[in-house]
Amino acid sequence: QDDQFKKVVSHAKEYGYVFQSSEIYDGLSAVYDYAQNGVELKKNIRDYWWKAMVQMHENIVGLDAAIFMHPTTWKASGHVDAFNDPLIDNKDSKKRYRADVLIEDYVGKLDAKIEKEVAKAAKRFGESFDKEQFLATNPRVVGYKEKGDAILQRMGKSLENEDLADVKLLIEELEIGCPLSGSKNWTDVKQFNLMFGTKLGASADTAMDLYLRPETAQGIFVNFLNVQKTGRMKIPFGIAQTGKAFRNEIVARQFIFRMREFEQMEMQFFVRPGTQKEWYEQWKETRLKWHLSLGMGADNYRFHDHEKLAHYADAAADIEFRFPFGFKELEGIHSRTDFDLSSHEKFSGKKLQYFDPELNERYVPYVVETSIGLDRMFLAVFSHSLQEEELENGTTRTVLKLPSVLAPTKAAILPLVKKDGLPEVARKIVEDLKWDFSVTYDEKDAVGRRYRRQDAAGTPFCITVDHETLNDDTVTIRHRDSMEQQRVKISELKEIIKEEVDV
Ligand code: ATP
Repeated sequence: QDDQFKKVVSHAKEYGYVFQSSEIYDGLSAVYDYAQNGVELKKNIRDYWWKAMVQMHENIVGLDAAIFMHPTTWKASGHVDAFNDPLIDNKDSKKRYRADVLIEDYVGKLDAKIEKEVAKAAKRFGESFDKEQFLATNPRVVGYKEKGDAILQRMGKSLENEDLADVKLLIEELEIGCPLSGSKNWTDVKQFNLMFGTKLGASADTAMDLYLRPETAQGIFVNFLNVQKTGRMKIPFGIAQTGKAFRNEIVARQFIFRMREFEQMEMQFFVRPGTQKEWYEQWKETRLKWHLSLGMGADNYRFHDHEKLAHYADAAADIEFRFPFGFKELEGIHSRTDFDLSSHEKFSGKKLQYFDPELNERYVPYVVETSIGLDRMFLAVFSHSLQEEELENGTTRTVLKLPSVLAPTKAAILPLVKKDGLPEVARKIVEDLKWDFSVTYDEKDAVGRRYRRQDAAGTPFCITVDHETLNDDTVTIRHRDSMEQQRVKISELKEIIKEEVDV
């Protein structure tokens, strides 16, 4: 697992996807830059989300709110008082950890044991293996599961009641050691606010304290009535937004999984009070379908329904993805009640209500939110796509099997040799295709090496111009995943590529 993850990080750098920020100054921890291919992949994921959420829904519109917001926003949202992580220091290593993450990692190890038992039994029983029954009846598995559930439940209760002494006790009882040194010498657990502060204004005495937004959602809430009125939106309707968010994360490891500056793609869906449960279920299903549409395998996703709910929620679930380091949250779906709008009403003194013409009644709408990290989605796609294949001739090839719709470059056009007029024909194909797709031209090295380079960069098609092309206007088109080659007319290229990369 660790090995696979290291490969993901180094491949992302080597092929121009993700660089450490400010690398020449030895980098800045948990901050990353997207390079020439990364920026395209990221944009394609964002567009894929936007198309599914905004373009395909008549009743969902977009918004691009500012990162800076009036400071009272964060009092109303609860972030000033409640956006805290429980932290614990290890006295020997002097390293700081999130107490809940230490405990969750412990439970993750129990889950890994369960998976191991399942794999073992599946092998032993072959076709007749019934996973559901095994999970429900095998004493060892049931034991791990019950222990894990009990730990999470106790942690949830303690955090909810701000009983930080019990969180520490739990870490001690489980004999959890510091991940680096194994030392079990812990301090007390303390709360730490995750928002970054900054100042607006030049002079020290009049400057206003601001926060960099820790989520994009509040920009939507404060604009709710403006959008509803000017867009003449009728409930139920949604507002979608993508943009940067900032959190002073403590456990900022695992590459772009947890960053201090990251991008969110959020949609707030405003509904009639009392209907939130149905919409919540519907959005859970719709969002899972969106993920599955990328073809990365249904068994790599699972729901995790929350028992411990945030102060604003009456139901919440994560869509978890199988990252190289295990199943982790990729997206959250939250039924947020009228918490946010009501709270903004209180703090601003302005009414944020909707007149429902069907009920002939005024109310503060309830909200169901879908919230996904763009960078985390990038990591899911990238790490799942990176594969090493044994070929028939005994060699291995590294291939980045990105879903074609997301690939940064759709096709590479390669003249077989750098002479005899082949480059000119290849250039002409580039000129023709670039109106519809992002394509690239490559004439360096033997064609086999160029294929491998494009495989590793994730390009779904290679189009090769050879001497035959000069006679009959045909080229070979090679498919990244199957490595199959077809002879086709130049005039057919657009349709063939379109078929695969269009949604
Ligand atoms: P986590 O428990 O992993 O910290 P969260 O529950 O705090 O996440 P939300 O506040 O629900 O996350 O944010 C919604 C989504 O934003 C998450 O599902 C995740 O994809 C993304 N996200 C949150 N924090 C980060 C971060 N520090 N870096 C990258 N993505 C993040």
